[in-house]
Amino acid sequence: MAEFNIDKEENFSEWFDEILKKAELVDKRYPVKGFVAHRPNAEYIEDKIQEMLEHKLKETGHRKARFPNAIPESILQKEADHIEGFEPEVFWITKGGKKDLPERLGLTPTSETVMYTMYSKWITSYRDLPYKIYQRCPVWRHETKHTRPLLRDREFEWIESHDAFKTREEAEEQVEEDIEIAQQVITEKLGVPFHYFKRPEWDKFSGAVHTFGADAFMPDGRFLQIPSTHLLGKNFSKAFNVTYEDRDGEEKQVWQTCFGPAVGRIFAAYIATHGDEKGLRLTWETAPTQAVIVPILHGENKEIEQTAKEVKKTLEDKNIRVELDDSEATPGEKFNHWEMMGAPIRIEIGENEVEEEKLTIKRRDTGEREEIDKKELEQYIEEIPEKIRKELRKQAQEKFKGNIENAETVKEVKEIVEQGKIARANWCSIDKDGKKCADILTSETAGAKVRGTIHHKEEEAKGKCIVCGEEAKEVVYIGKEY
Ligand SMILES: [Zn+2]
Repeated sequence: MAEFNIDKEENFSEWFDEILKKAELVDKRYPVKGFVAHRPNAEYIEDKIQEMLEHKLKETGHRKARFPNAIPESILQKEADHIEGFEPEVFWITKGGKKDLPERLGLTPTSETVMYTMYSKWITSYRDLPYKIYQRCPVWRHETKHTRPLLRDREFEWIESHDAFKTREEAEEQVEEDIEIAQQVITEKLGVPFHYFKRPEWDKFSGAVHTFGADAFMPDGRFLQIPSTHLLGKNFSKAFNVTYEDRDGEEKQVWQTCFGPAVGRIFAAYIATHGDEKGLRLTWETAPTQAVIVPILHGENKEIEQTAKEVKKTLEDKNIRVELDDSEATPGEKFNHWEMMGAPIRIEIGENEVEEEKLTIKRRDTGEREEIDKKELEQYIEEIPEKIRKELRKQAQEKFKGNIENAETVKEVKEIVEQGKIARANWCSIDKDGKKCADILTSETAGAKVRGTIHHKEEEAKGKCIVCGEEAKEVVYIGKEY
């Protein structure tokens, strides 16, 4: 195993590329820009993340469905703001074999138009509401920005949940539920903290009334939007005629929301938040290999080999994903390999361990070695998943807390952002009127953006907008983004 040892904070970009390679996660050598191959280690972890999200969606009354991946141009154009926002990124299918198609088909960049075409047929009565459906699907976007595996691909897989309601209040409650789901999976289970912002008018989803975005913060000081959820209002139900007959016999349009956790991006944030100079660090739940046993042999030793096999059997009987590494590599090489792969615990068995009926366990989350009696192994294994999850979450939250600084001027924003931190500033407005100031800010700070106000944190702005000097109505957060 080659040396890794790249400092994540100093050189995140190189660190991230290297970990994708060395932990055998994602391979960008496929010869189409922005289309990457996910190796078994990545797919395993991404599946686990998908399962956690799907579990929560099902728990909150969503049913899973599946929709086509090609959209006729005429359907894609039905909602004006939506097509305006997405058109520059659509991949088009224009031929079937040698024949030109009568109408070109867009490869789904997002599924509103596909799903609502069907919702208009499936939703008929007030009895059908609330209507809560999700799908897991790939989407395609011809990104014009620099592509980066997992962070910005032209093809990626995600979950989209699309819900319909009778009232605006119910739709707004759904937005809260989406945020709660993101919180429970991404922060509680995966230990990745994020801010939940209400996006400014000029940065909302094309076709939405309001957009709320969860932003993780990468080690290079850039925001990474993980899921976002949108209050769509009736914009799409009007365009797609998604109506229901109410109790009073009247035909009414539904209120809609959509929520799109992009699993690849959540995975990227997960790798970046917990990984270190030795490789991946994973929670017990997501790790492809949970425990690795390394016999410490100096030549042949039947007792050690026997103990290693016994321990493996004990763990297998408890359904633990365990590997006994009895390869030719040296113990040091094995340690490096499994640390790179993020195996949460390593069990070392040598002469001392056999003699004293003990096991030496090295934890990947804390880096500490623990010694336990062999008899205590089953108990240890029951307790360790929760300990690791809490530890990783705690470490991540400690780092995340201290990175916001107040800025009084645009110049200060620039300095704060250049130090890899988040600037907090007074702002005139996050409605359309504030866009002029946002454009000035972005051009004068080499790309920093207003991410929004923190959702549900009623922060009182005192003073003037840092750009135009008008009375500030909002407190906003500013940083660079992926
Ligand atoms: Zn202003």
